[in-house]
Amino acid sequence: MIVGIDVGGTNTDIAILEGSKFRTESYRTSEVLRNFSDFIKKSFGDAQAVGIGLAVWFVDGEAVKAPNLPAIPAIELDIPFILDNDANCFAYFSAKSLNFRHLLGVTVGTGVGGGIVADGRVYRGRGAAGEIGHTYVGGEKICKCGGRGHLEAYFGGWSLKNIKELVESGEIYGMAEFTLFCQSIANAVMILNPEAVAIGGRIGGRLDERLVGEKVSIYLPDEIDVAVKTVRDDYAVAKGAALLALDAISQNQP
Ligand SMILES: [Zn+2]
Repeated sequence: MIVGIDVGGTNTDIAILEGSKFRTESYRTSEVLRNFSDFIKKSFGDAQAVGIGLAVWFVDGEAVKAPNLPAIPAIELDIPFILDNDANCFAYFSAKSLNFRHLLGVTVGTGVGGGIVADGRVYRGRGAAGEIGHTYVGGEKICKCGGRGHLEAYFGGWSLKNIKELVESGEIYGMAEFTLFCQSIANAVMILNPEAVAIGGRIGGRLDERLVGEKVSIYLPDEIDVAVKTVRDDYAVAKGAALLALDAISQNQP
């Protein structure tokens, strides 16, 4: 049994991999983080490995920023475990389940996360590679990370408070903020040249992949095409964390 844990701002989602099948559970993050290591030991002490996905940036192996989490949890476990950025977990799960070797994953929820899979492995740079939400799109609007003019300061749950309703009504597709989102994806596609862009998260998974794909292609050269796919699986991060933990104990470090 391999356990994947997605620690979100409100809910902590769990995917338990047994054989090739996942089963899922969900908890309140406030309960889970009260004593995170104890929670894991009590609930999943017999796991072979644990993968933990967090909305945290890791640079040179150290957790440096968690703009949308109450705290960076301290973790002490006797069983093997890995920690990774939640969007990296999402990108890895998407690449595996959609069967792409080169993929950009973009999550839209409270913030905008990003992860890169290159040649079937997660590309991290020094740790924080792929953070599309914190690339410059224009203006001087202050971002939660302290930077200015970042995509996340215009598009996403904390900057567009009613984004869920805007997506549901379809109004979002006519908005300048949506154009910024698609332009950012086009920029990343030109740098990474992936086969696919997978879009997920509580908000992103509910976007219309055809409309995103059409808008992205406007900002790309005619010769560069990319598949845009939405991943509507609330457990995608937890599943990706489990798959990364499995790879880690299989000596097949992604
Ligand atoms: Zn930022």
